[in-house]
Amino acid sequence: MMKICMVGTGYVGLVTGACFADMGNEVWCVDVDEVKITNLKAAILPIYEPGLKELVERNLKEGRLRFTTEIKLGIEDALLCFITVGTPPCEDGSADLSYIFSAAQAIGQCMNHYLIVVTKSTVPVGTTEKVRDIIRQELKVSAREHVGFDVVSNPEFLKEGAAVEDFMRPDRVVIGTENIGTAELMKQLYKPFVRNQNPILIMDTKSAEMTKYAANVMLAARISFMNEIAQLCDIVGGDITNIRTGIAADHRIGRQFLYAGAGYGGSCFPKDVKELINLGYKNGLEMAIATAVHEVNERQKHYLVDMIRKRFGEKLDGMRFGVWGLAFKPQTDDMREAPSLVIVQSLINMGAKIVAFDPQAIKEAQQVFEDYADHIQYVGDMMEAVNDADALILITDWRQFRQPDFSDMKSRMRQLVLFDGRNQYDFEQIEKYGFEYYCIGRNYRG
Ligand code: NAD
Repeated sequence: MMKICMVGTGYVGLVTGACFADMGNEVWCVDVDEVKITNLKAAILPIYEPGLKELVERNLKEGRLRFTTEIKLGIEDALLCFITVGTPPCEDGSADLSYIFSAAQAIGQCMNHYLIVVTKSTVPVGTTEKVRDIIRQELKVSAREHVGFDVVSNPEFLKEGAAVEDFMRPDRVVIGTENIGTAELMKQLYKPFVRNQNPILIMDTKSAEMTKYAANVMLAARISFMNEIAQLCDIVGGDITNIRTGIAADHRIGRQFLYAGAGYGGSCFPKDVKELINLGYKNGLEMAIATAVHEVNERQKHYLVDMIRKRFGEKLDGMRFGVWGLAFKPQTDDMREAPSLVIVQSLINMGAKIVAFDPQAIKEAQQVFEDYADHIQYVGDMMEAVNDADALILITDWRQFRQPDFSDMKSRMRQLVLFDGRNQYDFEQIEKYGFEYYCIGRNYRG
């Protein structure tokens, strides 16, 4: 059993804290957001993540998981303190490290015993060492220079929508430290999570920090690559779904992350691609691949809008579009940098009215689209979204959209036009019900 403090109780801090607690550790989750902490004390979660509510409820009840706004309380008995605050993008694309640094400052100000401070947030190379400097400085100011501590980089690879599962059974755990004792302790902490023999990789701090960016940019690159091939297929012929299976059979390529669609979004890929470009730029190296990954994705987010424009023209006044899916991907309510932001806003700016359904993200969407409230109606049932619609646009591939009742849709829609941003449907189904169908890279002219 270890005593652990999480500083930052968002997606990563909450999931990580709850999973550590479930393995028998005692965990304090700290956050500056008072409402979030008050709610969490009553097991009211700020996010939707499969399996998380049960985990929080159980560990809260059994006393291993506690919530506070007071960092002093959180680190009082702790041996490990994880920094899990956000690192959102600045205007110029660089990661905003102000939350990391203020967390480090707060830790340094109230630390009075040996503590291992772990940067779990995604941070550029060298940040963990800066955290060490800040803590050292704060200790000096408080005349507690004798208090020992260490810093470690331990980037997180969980994905939203399967965060608990990913954390409980990680493909690998990356630990960046030059200290053998600290490495051993971190290994002990993670041992219960890697019973499937997946590796705990010990490396130097900078390599650990860079591994996270390299992994995310590589994954984003696969998506942008497939999106670029898809756009070419729409011009010269070929079906991206056939091409995907054709290349995925090659073991060197593999099957994951090869889906063409409406572009990637979320709180990680866009910002991490931008930060890598920025890090290269600051150090005199043009990151040509990362730059192309970003540019292709920006273009892809407008691809569906361009199709709609081609079909219905520039002016969409009086037209009604049903939208299925607003979250940046299924199984989450996260809308950060979701392709739906670009698509919905563009259509409204062209005069359209949107009727939207998402199984989890409506509350989030209401906040995000606050300025567009007069032009969006949210509905609680996917079929309601297609009532009197001139077209349906599928943006997020939630499972429940996979086999809709096409004949019911047919009786509800004003025009049978379907824009499928995630290539969910078979041409036979579409033809059977007489839909006009637009999809990504399948060169379909139905
Ligand atoms: P988030 O925005 O969901 O949560 C961050 C939390 O930190 C917020 O609740 C905020 O109130 C709190 N906070 C900010 N400053 C604080 C301070 N000084 N003290 C205490 N709390 C503070 O962010 P997230 O999505 O959990 O991401 C956190 C980090 O993890 C980022 O660097 C991100 O890139 C990385 N990451 C995220 C994911 C993901 O899927 N979301 C996956 C892997 C890595």
